[in-house]
Amino acid sequence: MRNFEYAAADSEADALSLLADHPGETAILAGGTDLVSLLQKELVNPRRVVDISRVSELKAIEPTDDGGVRIGALATLEELLASPLAAEYPSLRDVASAIRAIQIQQYGTIGGDLCHLPNCWYFRKGYGLLGDSNGRALSEEGDNRYHAIFGNRGRAKFVSASRFAPSLIAWDASVRIAGPAAGEEAWLPLEQFFVTPKGDQQGVTRLAPGQLITHLELTPAAGRLSGAYEVLEMSGLDWPLAAAASTLEMEGGVVSRAKIVLGHVAPTPWVSHPAADVLRGQPITEATAELAGEAAVSEASPLKDNEYKVRLAKTAVKRSLLRAAGANV
Ligand SMILES: Cc1cc2nc3c(=O)[nH]c(=O)nc-3n(C[C@H](O)[C@H](O)[C@H](O)COP(=O)(O)OP(=O)(O)OC[C@H]3O[C@@H](n4cnc5c(N)ncnc54)[C@H](O)[C@@H]3O)c2cc1C
Repeated sequence: MRNFEYAAADSEADALSLLADHPGETAILAGGTDLVSLLQKELVNPRRVVDISRVSELKAIEPTDDGGVRIGALATLEELLASPLAAEYPSLRDVASAIRAIQIQQYGTIGGDLCHLPNCWYFRKGYGLLGDSNGRALSEEGDNRYHAIFGNRGRAKFVSASRFAPSLIAWDASVRIAGPAAGEEAWLPLEQFFVTPKGDQQGVTRLAPGQLITHLELTPAAGRLSGAYEVLEMSGLDWPLAAAASTLEMEGGVVSRAKIVLGHVAPTPWVSHPAADVLRGQPITEATAELAGEAAVSEASPLKDNEYKVRLAKTAVKRSLLRAAGANV
């Protein structure tokens, strides 16, 4: 691990000021469950690490005036699971309870999950986000069994690592970004927060140097159904091979609006418009959920080693819908 300065912030303003001293040469530390290993492997080499874990204003889970919920970026998975407000969003609980490691539930934060850098093994071995070695695209020619099956026609083949982004996007969540200047803030639909890098200098989110995520806001849960399903290889700590989250508005027993978002199948969370279109005007049954799964994967373009993920993505969509409709799948 290379040397770096450590600075602990005690307020949002303090964090922004500590980040502003060295623009582009800082890293934010929340729970540290991933950042510490990135520092150890020298995949991230900041001049200063800004620890935000003591900023109390970023921890609360509270109701919004319109009946939604505001979640601080430092809320831990354990706090999400315990929160009666978050319990109104079943798809979030489906995801939080699937992360089966007490340590991660206690330390991992929702902001850290959203900014988690890809788990792509070429990136984690030091070949950069795009997995290049002397002009060779390792993620295209090498073993790509865990890579993207959607949005993979450019150089980026990794999959977005966030567990919560699909369900948050399915709930039309917005994200508050603070900085880089003190007092500067922007609210962005979470759907627009993630980017697919085209070059080596681009990251995986819209965060600019000196900015941080402070809060998320979810629209009211009342009157809507939701479910999420992750296909995991192991029953312990593991990353999904494919995942999906669905939020449904129903009228007279049929779907009036559906939002279906896949995870771990593309460089960003993947909103499936074909799946949502198929469901409009339909009840949720085994047959319609199956059709939505098929529609979702109609856009897939698997790589040489990951055709199997197409089937898993279809199953994830189907089961997220059946869970939303109350089935125990
Ligand atoms: C050994 C190990 C195995 C793990 N395996 C799994 C697994 O299998 N499945 C799983 O789901 N999770 C796993 N995790 C947990 C994983 O690290 C989660 O993504 C966790 O939620 C990250 O939260 P954190 O607060 O610890 O993030 P940190 O490690 O503190 O930060 C992660 C990234 O987000 C940035 N960041 C953090 N907060 C903010 C913010 N507010 N604004 C802007 N940027 C921010 C950091 O700079 C860093 O780049 C594992 C962790 C460990 C240690």
